[in-house]
Amino acid sequence: MGIIPDYLTRIDPGHLSQALFHLSQDPLPYRKLNHTRPGQSQNTLYEADDYLQERLETWGYVVKKEGVQVQAFRCDASKPKVQQYSPPAPEDPWYTACNLYVKKQGTVRPDEIVLLLAHKDSQSWVDSPGAYDNGAGTVALLEIARVLKDYEPGRSLWFLFCNEEHRPWTSVAAAQNAKARGDDLVAIFNLDSMGGKSQQDIDAGLKTNAAIYTTPEGERLADLVAEVNDAYRIGLVQRKARRARPGDDDGSFINAGYPSAIATFGSFPYADPAYHTEDDRPERVDIPNLAMAAQASLAAALRVDLSER
Ligand SMILES: [Zn+2]
Repeated sequence: MGIIPDYLTRIDPGHLSQALFHLSQDPLPYRKLNHTRPGQSQNTLYEADDYLQERLETWGYVVKKEGVQVQAFRCDASKPKVQQYSPPAPEDPWYTACNLYVKKQGTVRPDEIVLLLAHKDSQSWVDSPGAYDNGAGTVALLEIARVLKDYEPGRSLWFLFCNEEHRPWTSVAAAQNAKARGDDLVAIFNLDSMGGKSQQDIDAGLKTNAAIYTTPEGERLADLVAEVNDAYRIGLVQRKARRARPGDDDGSFINAGYPSAIATFGSFPYADPAYHTEDDRPERVDIPNLAMAAQASLAAALRVDLSER
């Protein structure tokens, strides 16, 4: 079984819950560039960036920022609730949204990079706390980084906190800049809306996770998530689905020429009844499910790192 089970036990549901409430309720009601709390000098997304950076630095990491110019989406209330985002107008304000990177240098194959990422912003067009979407993936990524703080990877291990609820998505710049540098991203895991599921699955008490792939290389990663769920008895109802075309932040990397990319959502098609609404609150988040999903992503990433060194 090796070292992986020990790392999985270190994922702490209490940490996940504490960080999730911090980022999606108190003190931060949202994480967006167009909302500043009364009495604060910077917007709630910058406050979230500061929180993440402070936590990561506590664990000895160096955080690098990459600025991208973005606008908030406008809201089109005539559309169904889940898709009320509509393009910004040219005259709408521009902001700098930051990608936050943390990098661990590999000791054996440092040029091969395993990337775990999550979008940290909440919906710019609606007052949603964005607890599942994507406070959940953000705090899972943060917790994985904490658990791995003393781990010495064979390949390089990168964590990226990006933005996908403003326009353009900052994962697009991250992916294109990686390609321009010639970075060799061998496996990409996009942690998004983990644990979010249908009312039916909630009522049935299921702990769900869905690995979403677009390419044959991605399907191998999706199968790996299922394999580790079984091998380490994580206990998820692990599903696999193919998207017709690249989507979300993993799609940004596929479009840039990195086919070995998947997303893990709580369900697919995404079925959380509070998706993109004001009701996407942290009290609704199934923390045990989120912890299990974080374990699955952690185990899969470690499997890639430990393979064929
Ligand atoms: Zn999302």
